[in-house]
Amino acid sequence: MATQNIVKFINSINNLDTKSYSRLKEAIEKRDSIKFVSFLLNNDDYENNRSCPYCNSKEHNKWGIREDLQRFKCKSCMRTFNILTGTPLANLHKKGRWLSYAQCLIDGLSVRKAADKCGVHRNTSFRWRHRFLQNANQIKPDKLSGIVEVNESIFAWSEKGSKRLRRKPRKRGYKSQKDIPSKSRVFTMFCRDRGKNTFDDIFLKFNADNLKPDLSKLITKDTLLCSQNKAVYMKYTKENNIRHGILSIPKKESVKKDIVHIKNVQKYQLSLLIWMKRFRGVATKYLKNYMSWYREIDEFDFKISPETVLVRAKRADKYNTNHFR
Ligand SMILES: [Zn+2]
Repeated sequence: MATQNIVKFINSINNLDTKSYSRLKEAIEKRDSIKFVSFLLNNDDYENNRSCPYCNSKEHNKWGIREDLQRFKCKSCMRTFNILTGTPLANLHKKGRWLSYAQCLIDGLSVRKAADKCGVHRNTSFRWRHRFLQNANQIKPDKLSGIVEVNESIFAWSEKGSKRLRRKPRKRGYKSQKDIPSKSRVFTMFCRDRGKNTFDDIFLKFNADNLKPDLSKLITKDTLLCSQNKAVYMKYTKENNIRHGILSIPKKESVKKDIVHIKNVQKYQLSLLIWMKRFRGVATKYLKNYMSWYREIDEFDFKISPETVLVRAKRADKYNTNHFR
């Protein structure tokens, strides 16, 4: 805009009525927000090592900017892509509202409340929630150290939101985990070390075969694994020569000696359950997302910033749709 026009425009702001002024203010805020989100995404260090989402080559040239996002052209397959192609945030609209949506995730708002707060449809709110959380599934510790506590929770299979139910609808939830019929059980395992690093996973069957890949990745010979005296853990620690602090189930032990206890992991499980109550039951196919959501908030001691949520949400080359082992 020419200098004289911009001066004219600025002077005209004084003459605006309240309604027009707030519309102008809203437009400026929206523009600032889009620019800021694009700035965050474009300047993430992770982009320096980014591979082509089509052929995985790391050789690419910058190829202009479209809709505020940097584009690239792959030297190998010659296809173009932007910084969001192949990530969970690809093809989502209304970038300017992503940061306030990330804040809604941190605050643990329901789909409807987040939709109202960000001025989007509740279907958009639902889609954003699961896209934003997709990558949190993959951000878990590879190793745990020192004393590791392990325990599990049982959830009832839920097809919430599904139009075709695999079972007869229930009127009420189960009072305790023991009331859940064995056919409807979904098992979650939580491992937490004393540095508050937490790993979780979901299984349809709780047996050594299913647990072994996780435990062998997480636990080293230097670990002291604390658990209740369940056959799965007894077998695993014996076969792999892992030190095992065993707590008795009949005695309902959660502490044996000062160091042998599972109090931290039990506290984590309980806090997760209390936190999840606000959603009034979650569909089993999304359970992993909710667990990852809570794990991410816990990792930052409930002080994660919306900028971090957004940047972490983007850092996935391909997102994993395989919910269960
Ligand atoms: Zn390529």
